[in-house]
Amino acid sequence: APEPKIVLVTGSTSGIGLAIARRYAQAGHVVAVNGIETPDGAGAALAEIGAGAQYAPAYFPADLADGDQSAALARSVIQRFGRIDVLVNNAGIQKVAAIEDIAPADFARIVSVSLDSAYHTIRLALPGMKARGWGRIVNVASAHGLRASPFKAAYVATKHAVVGLTKSVALEVAEHGITCNAICPGYVWTPLVAAQVADQARVHGMSEDEVIRTVMLAPQPTRRFVQTEEIAEMAFYLAGDPARSITGTTISIDGGWTAK
Ligand code: NAD
Repeated sequence: APEPKIVLVTGSTSGIGLAIARRYAQAGHVVAVNGIETPDGAGAALAEIGAGAQYAPAYFPADLADGDQSAALARSVIQRFGRIDVLVNNAGIQKVAAIEDIAPADFARIVSVSLDSAYHTIRLALPGMKARGWGRIVNVASAHGLRASPFKAAYVATKHAVVGLTKSVALEVAEHGITCNAICPGYVWTPLVAAQVADQARVHGMSEDEVIRTVMLAPQPTRRFVQTEEIAEMAFYLAGDPARSITGTTISIDGGWTAK
């Protein structure tokens, strides 16, 4: 059997990150799972990721709002497994409010969790990737890395920045067998979004189907949510050798959103 890859997925105890972690674990790779839950709190996610897998996933709690913890996360994974072959920067948070109503601490937190944490994990994973002449970096950005919406200034600015980071890193490491890409999902069905649908249905006095079609998925021409497995499949594909020439780009999985 080929040697397993060491895969770090940030923010992987829920949603898209969990699906990505699961995809790699099911393919026989060693997955470092990260989140802000206690090890007990992450138990169900770890069981789901590791079910039937050759290697049980390892949990590395770290709050990526803190730069020191982001750096420590990358260092811990390297210390434990000797390397990071595939780095998936997925952790991200959102805040919906007018820019005057986004508190400085909230703005900073959004930037820290999505952008600064990726800077830290990338800078620490790269030396080893360069030494081995192989590496894959996948950043989970968003359709909001390519398009704007009102009331999401911190999120939109951060996701655009993640796209910029992705391109620069790709250029710097292009001759080292390392690729760096951004996946840009539209609305993805995650536990967080599911809870939002129920709330919106109550507030608008609509059925959940109506809320999905007319309220939430207005910008998404397919009028249905992307599934987490669809993002996971792309994140997995990008780590394969056939994807070696895909670098420095954005891959939209957004039901046609950015075609407009
Ligand atoms: P989610 O809330 O379901 O999961 C977020 C994960 O990040 C969890 O594992 C959580 O523990 C972790 N996390 C949150 N704050 C953290 C912190 N401070 N430190 C470490 N980990 C932290 O979210 P999701 O919907 O799966 O989103 C994952 C990524 O995909 C985010 O970057 C998000 O911006 C992006 N995205 C989501 C959608 C969508 O519609 N769901 C669309 C486009 C992009």
